[in-house]
Amino acid sequence: MQRSNRPAAVSLSRLFLLRLLFSLFLLPFPAPLAQAPIPDWCRALPRPEYKTLERVSISDPWFEVYKPAQGVFAIYEPHQAEETISYLIVGEKRALLFDTGMGISDLKKVIAQITNLPILLLNSHTHNDHVGDNWEFSSIYGMDTDFTRQNARGSRLDAQAEIAPEQICGVLPKGFDSKGYATRPWKITAYTHDGDRFDLGGRTLEVIATPGHTPDAISLLDRANGLLFTGDTYYPAPIWLFRPETDLDAYDASIRRLAALAPQVKVVMGAHNVPVASPTILPRLVAAFNAVRAGKVQPSPDSLGKVLYKADDISFLMRAPPAH
Ligand SMILES: [Zn+2]
Repeated sequence: MQRSNRPAAVSLSRLFLLRLLFSLFLLPFPAPLAQAPIPDWCRALPRPEYKTLERVSISDPWFEVYKPAQGVFAIYEPHQAEETISYLIVGEKRALLFDTGMGISDLKKVIAQITNLPILLLNSHTHNDHVGDNWEFSSIYGMDTDFTRQNARGSRLDAQAEIAPEQICGVLPKGFDSKGYATRPWKITAYTHDGDRFDLGGRTLEVIATPGHTPDAISLLDRANGLLFTGDTYYPAPIWLFRPETDLDAYDASIRRLAALAPQVKVVMGAHNVPVASPTILPRLVAAFNAVRAGKVQPSPDSLGKVLYKADDISFLMRAPPAH
């Protein structure tokens, strides 16, 4: 599994040469990995957008932390193919953690290096790559759906697939237990609903239910600062809409709702690959999705049972239409 767009063959081989030169002279990876094949998605890193963001230094090399807006920390996991981004949004009295990533390294320790305020945890949705470290937190809000409750019991299968060799770029954390790796269960301590507001002290976040990708998908709006956190409803890479829990009609309604907010938004922050996008993407997302559903975009085959629809720079990974 990977979120990355595959670069064209020409640029691939060029990148490969660059990477090879890099490996020879700068040795960015330990020797054993230099011999393993480098996955395609890994060759696209580091993504150029990160150059413009303020980097925050932390001690765990599994994560990279950036500060895309005042009091907002994007906690990025570049060594695993999901390239998941969790967000810590800090107020004067509390901080809200929006997702906990893969659970491969210790996110809670990273949080402690950024703030010592009490943490409220919300998930953009409860797929395994966003809830991995939930178990370490004590104040966890969940959507009131069976999907959420089911996922809160934990699981092993999805987690294990995430650590296959082609999913890893660089090295897993020291002491990581590959065999024992699973999404650990967590306890939902309170339910949250569409329209709820979380007052962090000097900063308020509003919950916008955006079901579609999953039944429990939410976005968060910081209206005063023009920040919209979109989870997996939008991020700048192929958007995954193929799983059985995905509801395309619900997704359509949700992205229209987000697009209506675009005039009030300055930055869109999604949950994979790159933490910043322009709000102009939101109406374009609606247009691209409409075009796909109207049959105006030719799909290209992807992995088994899936097709990729590309409309300019927006793409959707979806279930293959039934064969005739
Ligand atoms: Zn997801």
